[in-house]
Amino acid sequence: MTAETVGPQDSDGAAGEWWTPGDTVLWRYRGNASEQLHICRPVTVVHDGPDLLAVWLAPGTTCVRPVLADGSEIAREPLDTRFRKPRAPRRSTWFGTGVLKLARAGDPWSVWLFWDRDWRLRNWYVNLEEPRARWAGGVDSEDHVLDIAVYPDRSWEWKDEDEFVAAQEAGLIGTRKAATIRAAGRAALREIEGWGWPFRDHWEDWRPDPAWGVPALPADWDRDPADLMGGEEGGTPPASNSYD
Ligand SMILES: [Mg+2]
Repeated sequence: MTAETVGPQDSDGAAGEWWTPGDTVLWRYRGNASEQLHICRPVTVVHDGPDLLAVWLAPGTTCVRPVLADGSEIAREPLDTRFRKPRAPRRSTWFGTGVLKLARAGDPWSVWLFWDRDWRLRNWYVNLEEPRARWAGGVDSEDHVLDIAVYPDRSWEWKDEDEFVAAQEAGLIGTRKAATIRAAGRAALREIEGWGWPFRDHWEDWRPDPAWGVPALPADWDRDPADLMGGEEGGTPPASNSYD
């Protein structure tokens, strides 16, 4: 099904620039109003090219996600203090079913597919975020808190609007930035309501290659991309160091 998303640019001298299906890369997010990386998901490349990056987050993958600095869960913290307390990254296993993440270059969102255990599509999830910056070992972004869930019957709903407001009140997202994020959400809604990319593209029928392993979280998962820029070509998977 990727045939319709692969453009002629793929043969346009981009050899070595794009990752190859099966490569392992890191999908990372910085905190809001922060330079600190606090989410890191080792993923397997499904497709990569000038227009689209598609990756698979396999069940059982050791990831990094934020918790409050005292170790408690963010979701349990009352909304009015949830974005005001310091956070710390923690290693954590991705459990349940895997997630397919699709991102077009330059879009201020990526679209994730969630399935039930029997591979029935549960929903798409439009994750509003900074357009991803590519580096040799993966992509970096900032999550914009506000999201949109899209269901197989083509209905949709905003998600986490309360957190979006709380993050603004805590000063992590400024007024102008919040307006830009809302506008990005409305642009995504035009795709949803027109049933455009990627909803029309049958990604719900995609399945991971059974030969793929579960990618390892490298010990230096939070390394600065500047350390690698220019030193290596894209396509080099991160080192599979053990972290325990
Ligand atoms: Mg989000």
